[in-house]
This record gives sequence, C-alpha cells and structure tokens, in this order.
Amino acid sequence: MSPAARAEIVVDVAAIRHNVAALRRAVSAERPVQMMTVVKADGYGHGMVESARAARAAGADWLGVATLDEAMVLRAAGDPGRVLCWLTVPGEDYRPAVEADVDLTAYTETGLAEIAAAARAVGRVARVQLKVDTGLSRGGATLEDWPALVAAARRCEQHGDVVVTGLWSHFACSDEPGHRANEAQERAFRDALQVAEAAGLRPEVRHLANSAGALLRPSARFDLVRCGLASYGLDPAPGHTAHLWPDLGLVPAMTVRARLALVKPVAAGAGVSYGHTWTAPTATTLGLVPVGYGDGVPRHASNAAEAWVDGKRRPVRGRICMDQFVVDLGGDDARAGDEVLLFGPGTGGEPTAQDWAAACGTISYEIVTRIGGRMARRHVDRDQRIEA
Ligand SMILES: *Cc1c(COP(=O)(O)O)cnc(C)c1O
Repeated sequence: MSPAARAEIVVDVAAIRHNVAALRRAVSAERPVQMMTVVKADGYGHGMVESARAARAAGADWLGVATLDEAMVLRAAGDPGRVLCWLTVPGEDYRPAVEADVDLTAYTETGLAEIAAAARAVGRVARVQLKVDTGLSRGGATLEDWPALVAAARRCEQHGDVVVTGLWSHFACSDEPGHRANEAQERAFRDALQVAEAAGLRPEVRHLANSAGALLRPSARFDLVRCGLASYGLDPAPGHTAHLWPDLGLVPAMTVRARLALVKPVAAGAGVSYGHTWTAPTATTLGLVPVGYGDGVPRHASNAAEAWVDGKRRPVRGRICMDQFVVDLGGDDARAGDEVLLFGPGTGGEPTAQDWAAACGTISYEIVTRIGGRMARRHVDRDQRIEA
C-alpha cells in the first residue's frame, strides 16, 4: 500500500481465476457442465470487467448479469462471449442488447413480446431464456402461467423473431442443503422442462443452481451452473460446504485495508465513539481507522467485528461512524500510519469477509458488494506479480 494511501480495496484477479477453475473442475467431476460466472453488482464489488476477464481466462462459458446496462458494459469492454441478463422492467430498450447478442430473460408474455418487437426492429433474432418460478416467488413465470409462456415463445420462434436458448429457475434455500424446498423446486423445474419440451422448445441450456446449489446439490446442475459468490472465493453456505468439499480451496479475492490515522492512550472509564456504547474497563490504546459507513463499512459491525493490526486481531470498540471507527490495541505499540486489514483471504490470520458478515448478522455477499464508497480499488495479479 502506498505510504500516503488512506484506505484501499485490493482485488487479486489470480484468485478469481483460481476459484473459477476450481469450481469448473468440481461441478464437472461426473459429467461436463457449463460454467456461468455471475458478475452483477460490479462483480460483487470486485470490479465487473476485471472479474469477467479473469473468469473468461479460467474458462467461464457464460457471464451472468442482472441488468441490461451491465450486459452492455461487458460488450463495451470487448467481451464477445455468451452473456445472460435477467432483470428488466417494461418499456426498457432491448434493441442494443439484441444487436449485441446478449441472451435476455423473459418472465411473461408481454416481456417476450417486447423482446420480439425489438428483434424485428433491428432485423435480428433475439436470444431468449425463459424463467420459471419454482418456489422462490421472485422473478419468473408462475407454474400456472408457464404453459402459455412457452407456447408464446414457440410461436415467436416460428415467426423467426426469437430463439429460445435456455430454460431456468432459481433456488430459495440452496445454502440449506437439507431444506425440503430444494427437492420441491427441483421437481417443479423438471416438470416445467417437460412442459416446454412438449411445446417444441429445444433449448441449449437448462439451469437451476447458484454457487451453493452447484456445490451441494449435484442433481441440480443440469447443463449449466451460475456461480457468483464462490467465484470470488467466499463460501456460499458456511457450515455446509467444507464437509462436502474439504479440498476445494477457494481463495477470497478481496482485501480491504487502511492506515491508522492516529494511535493514542486512553484511561480506564473513557467512553468511545458516538453514544459511548463502549467504555474502556482499563487503560488501553486505541487506533483510529479512517473508513466508515460512508465507505461501506457496515455500522452493524459496531462493537462486533475485528480488524488486523500488527499481527493481532483487534476488536472494534464503539460505533462505526461515517468516516472512521476505533479499534482497541490493548496497550500494544502500534503507530499512526501502520496498516490495518479489515478483511482479506484469512491466510495471515486476518479476519475474512465471512467473519465480518457473522459479526454483523449478514452474509458475506453484502459485505463485499457494499464496501467501496471513497476507497480506491486496485487490481493485482498474484500469479504475475503485477498490477492487473
Ligand atoms: C446472483 C444470482 C446468482 C449467483 O448466486 P450465488 O449465490 O452468488 O452463486 C445466480 N443466479 C441468479 C438468478 C442470481 O440472481
């Protein structure tokens, strides 16, 4: 870290390559399965374009994004491969995405009609995947509406407006492998596939599983898996994954660090940070970390998370503020300017994003996706020992 830098996020693209390759091997152990690396939400905070490049280098067959804008950013960055997009609202302009050969998702007949109209307008065949709601009750056609949607899609194919490239759904409880919803959703998905095939659809890919589903439920892999979180080296189902995959070896790609702005002694009885939610029981030294919720450091980490300073984990004391928070150095002689690791891969003893998630009562997805704000982000490639 440059001596003058206040705080930064460092993303190791070699870790993303390593994770994507490890996941590909893991899910294709019995039978080859295509890999979609999900890079929505700025690559879960890791940088969408850099993450996409790393995933492609490791063999990702597809990239997955939520919005049309995200898909178009990938194309603008020169990615020519298959990209699936799955979240649009009525009235969006599908034409650029159809021209750019992005695979679009339709949940409804009206959504499908809009895509077909865009295809006619630009004189192209739109690639469409149909999503069925098998029990998440979020996006996707209800099982009731599914037969009409697949019939409409078949008619659009016959008109030459669209080609249905995929049929898919999404799990509600894949991080709880014993949850009975998983079995029910998989069964509903198989039934929905039969309905679509009976209507004459012959999609390239059928898919249901995210990271946790891909790792923990082999029967849900179908033709393709959509891996987001695990691609960034984080465990999508803490407490479950390690049993089944003791040697998977995912490497967290993100490190967040800062430099102490100030170190000072305080006497016993000193109240720390807003609201004095922590009072020093004995004299100690405090380190001031110059990042806060304005940089995406969760306020729920107040009095809960730990950071790594001078070879030890140091508890956060008092509330996380907008720009700063305080750690307890316990009398050790760290100095202003010393490095503070909020989280990293964990290999040096430092906390991980999962540790922060546990401290905050959330999931690591939210920790890495929200961190940022005013912090600089830098990409490195540990394999090349260069700045990526
Ligand atoms: C975000 C998302 C994924 C990736 O989920 P992970 O749990 O991060 O692997 C897969 N599919 C859909 C539809 C998503 O929205």
